[in-house]
Amino acid sequence: MKDITSLFPDDNDTKAYDGFLSSLLDEIYSDTSKLINNPEANIDNFRTALANKDFAEPEHFEALLEWTVSALKNGMLHTIHPGYLGLFNPAPAFQAQCADRIAAALNPVICVWSHAPAAVEIEEHVIKSVAFRAGFSENAGGHFTSGGSEANMTGLICALTAASPASASQGSRAFSGRPTIYISSESHLAWLKIAHSTGIGRNAVRLVETDGTGRMNTVALEAQIEKDRNDGEIPVMIASTAGTTNAGMIDPLHHCADIAERFGIWHHIDAAWAGALIASENHRSVLSGFERADSITIDAHKWFATTVGAGMFLTQRNGILAKAFHVSTNYMPTSNEERDLYANSIQWSRRFVGLRLFLSLACVGWRGYALHVEHSLEIIEYLIRRLKQAGWHHENNSPAAVACFSPPPGSRPVQDYVDKANSSGRYWVSVTKFENKPVLRACVTNGKTTNSQIDGLVEELSLFEKIDAEPALTKAARSRIGVKTGGAPY
Ligand SMILES: *Cc1c(COP(=O)(O)O)cnc(C)c1O
Repeated sequence: MKDITSLFPDDNDTKAYDGFLSSLLDEIYSDTSKLINNPEANIDNFRTALANKDFAEPEHFEALLEWTVSALKNGMLHTIHPGYLGLFNPAPAFQAQCADRIAAALNPVICVWSHAPAAVEIEEHVIKSVAFRAGFSENAGGHFTSGGSEANMTGLICALTAASPASASQGSRAFSGRPTIYISSESHLAWLKIAHSTGIGRNAVRLVETDGTGRMNTVALEAQIEKDRNDGEIPVMIASTAGTTNAGMIDPLHHCADIAERFGIWHHIDAAWAGALIASENHRSVLSGFERADSITIDAHKWFATTVGAGMFLTQRNGILAKAFHVSTNYMPTSNEERDLYANSIQWSRRFVGLRLFLSLACVGWRGYALHVEHSLEIIEYLIRRLKQAGWHHENNSPAAVACFSPPPGSRPVQDYVDKANSSGRYWVSVTKFENKPVLRACVTNGKTTNSQIDGLVEELSLFEKIDAEPALTKAARSRIGVKTGGAPY
């Protein structure tokens, strides 16, 4: 192929390179189970090659594309691998990938409605549809975010603004005491960074104890709010979690709503991952209570399987976003308070991420998403059955597709099993703590994961168990079977 020397090459050249890039990616996609998930294996070679790229001379683009795709192929965990039973990161839906391409090619500026009304209204339409499906009224609104953390932060800023509109100008000083927020100790700890960023500070986050099954203990919640009030703090928000990151547990949403109502404070629900259960008629009832929330976080880039960098903030408190984020400038086109995203959200210039969910949802419908989440649930059920048969204990009673296990009594630490399973490069599971107990965590979000990966994983874990039946495994034996020493302290 001809060398490209300009940032804006002509049509024929871009077509040729487009085809070449597609062929590189097609090769990876032709059998994702062949990918090896061992991202650090060649890191030294990679670093040397990277250091050589000093940008002094132009490089041939064909070689660069090949280098880049190959570097990433070998240097990352592949969520597109069907054996990736990892965090909530999905294999991205094909439609979402197409959307990303369209957004990249046309690059609409969507922070002002007037620059790209079609794009802004596509996002609004999706947000309203998701909010309605989640149980909010037809008037509910919100916007796309970079992810769950930004959506949660938006929730806190709204809660602070609702508690004291003066906080927009005076920050925490608008309150007669320190504003405090309430989350369970199993919730996502991005809340700590959010508290820092919003200026209320990390100590303002009350980590309420859980009930022994990974859910917010609402008796402790109520008592803590009561105590804080008596001490002169200003409780502003309960953020319950619907689908904890560790274990997919759903806080008692109605109880939390009752308590928020009693104290007159904001109720936010962080449903970053499990919010996708709204798609399934058979399973959505576990999210009962959504309809009473002031705001909800649902990620598009988790169980909704879009490419990464796409979350949603939904609220049924009309007008709160404009109150929280309004700003007028002399260099932006006339502001349309309701519709201009720069005046209704944290971001200013922003990517058109909503198209990913629009194309995916419009293409397969809610029914298609229902099949997707139900498929994950079936696979996780199968894993639970298989590991129970193998003597493992299933620790979390989650209605979502994540399962936590501890190995049979007398086994070696969970970390060793996880290292062993992951060292093959064919599976990826993790260690976490559930109710203070180290557990193996597996989560299904890849639509291409099947029972055969589960069979392989269970076999891998069981094989290890037999070797491990020897009472005292020497260090040499450990290294022979590929167990890393060190690591987590359990
Ligand atoms: C993943 C997750 C988050 C953080 O969301 P990002 O999209 O990674 O920013 C917050 N809360 C919960 C419950 C999550 O699972």
